[in-house]
Amino acid sequence: MSKITKRGITILSLKEPAASRPVVDFPEKDPDSVDSSSMEKMWKFDDNIQLSLDELLPAARDAGIVDELDGELLADKLERAALAVRAARAKQLVPVYMIVDAAEHEHYGSAAWAVLREFPKETARGLSFAASACGCDAANVGFSVRMTRKERFTLQIKTKLKVFKSRPTYPSYHNDDNRFEIRFGVQACLALYYAVEFGDSQQSTVITVSGDSVANPQNVRVAVGTPIRDVLRFCGLITDPNYIIIGDTMTGVCCTDDHTLVTAGISCLLAMQFRPRVEKPRSCVGCGRCISACHVNLLPFEIARRVDNMQYERLPRLLPQDCDNCGACSYICPSGIDVAAKVFEARQNSSTVLLKWGNDIVL
Ligand code: SF4
Ligand code: SF4
Repeated sequence: MSKITKRGITILSLKEPAASRPVVDFPEKDPDSVDSSSMEKMWKFDDNIQLSLDELLPAARDAGIVDELDGELLADKLERAALAVRAARAKQLVPVYMIVDAAEHEHYGSAAWAVLREFPKETARGLSFAASACGCDAANVGFSVRMTRKERFTLQIKTKLKVFKSRPTYPSYHNDDNRFEIRFGVQACLALYYAVEFGDSQQSTVITVSGDSVANPQNVRVAVGTPIRDVLRFCGLITDPNYIIIGDTMTGVCCTDDHTLVTAGISCLLAMQFRPRVEKPRSCVGCGRCISACHVNLLPFEIARRVDNMQYERLPRLLPQDCDNCGACSYICPSGIDVAAKVFEARQNSSTVLLKWGNDIVL
């Protein structure tokens, strides 16, 4: 069974066969050519570099790195992370972790895992730059794919970081009474490493190409600026797709023009023949999952209830203006309610003059 929710896609086609295949380059490299730059890059690997935030930010900004986890510019995210770490310390929320996130939201996506498997040391190094510059206590690797104990141990040795099984988390910040976490995408960390060590800009991205129109689902390294039509053809189309979805399950958009160009930060491309059934929302069952999913500690179901009942005058107390429309509450809702849309409606309405049903105009 599969479905598309209002806020994103839930495809249970899972990550195979793409996840277990190595990343392929598009356009393909000449097998006889010698890539001298990558040999040089191996030699330059240096474990001892530590950077301050002032040194790291220009490198990330000049390289134009976009974090594929949330589409944010990495430099902006690092700045926010440093502030958040300081705030967490002030509230004595310890320890503070920075995590490279290979636990992808997309049920079909495996680009992060494929890149981590290919460049474990470099990715870990990029994360370590970010963690030390932002003042984090530790940097870890989170994954969700099936891995044997031996594979996990090998990855731990290669990255020199703790590797742990993690559930996909959205958005990138998470805090509770015991810990404060900030997550970065695998490709963003890798790009940061190359930006710092070699001054490289982010010129390519690894994309999981999948869907029922794709003959050969796989992870493809694509130059930024390539039309998605060419990428789909490279993977082989069984038939012309009726729907193309670019991006991840939370922020993905349906694309109508296959001439659209690949941009940095895209890690998924889904070409589909049939549009999966959209489920009708059911009633709220009061499970509270939307509350636990909300990273700014709102009560999304209560805000939605007040919007439904037109109790607008009581909305400001629930602080809907703090919502950044991340969509996590809609994504998690088992009743298929677009809670985020209701909170957004409340945010629009709570600061204006509103009509209370059957009553006078109130503020
Ligand atoms: S959309 Fe708004 S209310 Fe819903 S989880 Fe995100 S911040 Fe919270
Ligand atoms: S997650 Fe959905 S069903 Fe559960 S309390 Fe929130 S709105 Fe209601």
